[in-house]
Amino acid sequence: MSQRIQFAKTGGSEMLELVDVALDAPAAGEVRIANKAIGLNFIDIYFRTGLYPAPAMPSGLGTEGAGVVDAVGEGVTHLKEGDRVAYAQGPLGAYAEHHTLPADKVVKLPDFVDFETAAASMLKGLTVQYLLRQTYELKGGETILFHAAAGGVGSIACQWAKALGVKLIGTVSSQDKADLAMANGAWATINYTEEDVVQRVRELTNGEMCDVVYDSVGKDTWEMSLDCLKPRSLMVSFGNASGPVDGVNIGILNKKGSLFVTRPSLNGYADTRERLEMMCEDFFAMLESGKIHIDVANRYPLKDVGKAQDALQSRQTTGSTVLLP
Ligand code: NDP
Repeated sequence: MSQRIQFAKTGGSEMLELVDVALDAPAAGEVRIANKAIGLNFIDIYFRTGLYPAPAMPSGLGTEGAGVVDAVGEGVTHLKEGDRVAYAQGPLGAYAEHHTLPADKVVKLPDFVDFETAAASMLKGLTVQYLLRQTYELKGGETILFHAAAGGVGSIACQWAKALGVKLIGTVSSQDKADLAMANGAWATINYTEEDVVQRVRELTNGEMCDVVYDSVGKDTWEMSLDCLKPRSLMVSFGNASGPVDGVNIGILNKKGSLFVTRPSLNGYADTRERLEMMCEDFFAMLESGKIHIDVANRYPLKDVGKAQDALQSRQTTGSTVLLP
């Protein structure tokens, strides 16, 4: 038997329950991983609340983890029992002692990446990889606005932007979070719960505004984000922490300066084995170089996942959180 977190109905964190399940043998093309650390992500909350529908109920939760391969299905050639691995995609169910998933979503961990670091950063680091290196290929010298700069994704983005020579203006909700974003390499911060963001961006950029805005907050920041852009530049809307952006009339892109907008996802960028490997190689190289350090700021036992999700959802966390099975 093995323990996993599941939910039978969408709702608050009280819907999450720890249950015993039979250990399933991996099917052809799959591997089973004994998790050593599990990543906590805002997307897990979207599934729990029903904003993103789970494919079936009751459902497991979580898509990120790191551990050791403990069973290999037929036809899998790139992994064997005992390999140290990590993953950030695949079926829901990472919140568990064991997780079985398609082997092509699983990568071997370099020796210099420990399990907690991997669980705290695979999904978030690969996300920053595609945001800063692919959705818009930053070359250095640009000015960008990145919302929630002290969070899990934001903390990695601050460091990666600094390494690229990009001026990242980070939004945050407190002075402590501002200090953390600056320590991670942000060029400036704005407290978006107190300050006029558009006005501050105008001052900081001498009226030029930003080359790209990265917005994971969604509903509360959508329009203000568009107002922070240069004419003909790019709005990257990649999350819904405050609720989804809907009911948009695309005429607003004309009104705000012939803007471009994209709504990307990790699965849309790491959609083939080759692309996943390329993104991992880039991210692991940043870790190895020391240009990016992962702050495993919060650790919870797996059984306390509800408390961990409540802290993330109520903006109490900074950096990354891991669950320990
Ligand atoms: P974070 O650690 O960044 O936590 C979310 C942060 O959002 C909070 O700490 C808070 O920072 C800010 N926030 C602003 N408004 C709200 C609100 N109303 N309720 C809650 N939080 C709010 O989480 P993650 O690093 O896990 O994810 C960051 C974002 O990136 C999420 O929106 C997530 O969905 C998105 N994402 C998208 C991916 C994609 O491929 N599209 C992949 C990975 C993540 P503050 O207090 O400073 O405002």
